[in-house]
Amino acid sequence: MGPHRPCPVCGERRARALHRRPGRRILRCACGLFVDPLPSEAEVAAREAAAFRGQLLAETRTMFDAYGRGYREDDPVVRAFARHLATLGRLAAGRRLLDVGVGTGLLVHLARQAGWDAAGVDICAEAAARAAREFGVAVAVGA
Ligand SMILES: [Zn+2]
Repeated sequence: MGPHRPCPVCGERRARALHRRPGRRILRCACGLFVDPLPSEAEVAAREAAAFRGQLLAETRTMFDAYGRGYREDDPVVRAFARHLATLGRLAAGRRLLDVGVGTGLLVHLARQAGWDAAGVDICAEAAARAAREFGVAVAVGA
C-alpha cells in the first residue's frame, strides 16, 4: 500500500500502521486509531447485516444475550450506560437522545426508562428491526 490518507481528526500524515488486512489497514496517530481506506457505506452495511444472516456471529450472539431484554442491572456496560445518561442529564439542557449505531437498542431503552425522548439510527436494517422487537424502541435505518 502507498501513502495513507491523513487522520480524519487531527490531520496527521505520518501515522503508524498497526494492523494490515487485504486492502485495508488500521493506523495509529497521536489522537487515536483510524482505518485507511475508509470502507464505503455499502461495505459497512453489508458487513453489519452479515452478522444477522443465518447464524449470528458468535460475538454478536454474545452481545445480544448480555444486552437484550434479559440484561442485568449490575452488568458493567449497563451501569456505564446509566452513568452516561446521568452525566448527559447534567450537561444537556433537554432530554432528547439519538443513539447512532444502536447495538441491541439497550441504551435507547434505558434512556426512555429514565425519561428521555430517545430514538436510534443504525446502518443495519436487521439491527434496527431487532432493537425494535427487543425493546420496542424507534430505530431508523440510515447512515
Ligand atoms: Zn489523529
